[in-house]
Amino acid sequence: MIDSIAIDMDGVIADIELHTLNWYQKKCNVVIHPEDIIGLPQLEALPEKDAVWKFLHTPGFFRTLPPVKGAIDAVRRLTRKYDIFIVSSAMEFPHSLNEKYEWLQEHFPFISWRKLIFCGEKNRITADVLIDDYPKNLRSFKGIPLLFSAMHNMHETNYTRLHNWENAVQVIECL
Ligand SMILES: [Mg+2]
Repeated sequence: MIDSIAIDMDGVIADIELHTLNWYQKKCNVVIHPEDIIGLPQLEALPEKDAVWKFLHTPGFFRTLPPVKGAIDAVRRLTRKYDIFIVSSAMEFPHSLNEKYEWLQEHFPFISWRKLIFCGEKNRITADVLIDDYPKNLRSFKGIPLLFSAMHNMHETNYTRLHNWENAVQVIECL
């Protein structure tokens, strides 16, 4: 029986891939389709190699991320049954900390500030379940690791994969 679920932000509830492609199209006038970046590391996926890095350092980038499809309803539903908290690496881009907090207040107002963990690395996090799109964050996790599908992790086969939020709720309710 599981109780606590830690949920990553970028790539899990905040659609950083879609946002990055949209920003790239706007700033560089080049259209990249999601299928063009399958299996590529997120930071090197675009033709202009430092574009993503620049976006991550641009004020407003994190604040304007679109929520991942289905994430708000699914997480709201999970909060009724489980101890849900949000775990996000914010310290690499310190300006993102406030933007991420405001973003959560706007899109996930039902999650209390008490349930937010903004951190550096995630290897000290304990919970029954961790949902993350980065295998490196799941590798050191002591509970049940669940990989949320993203273009950059499509070739990863070591973890139970959550294809979308509808699938995530189904998998979690069977744990
Ligand atoms: Mg992530």
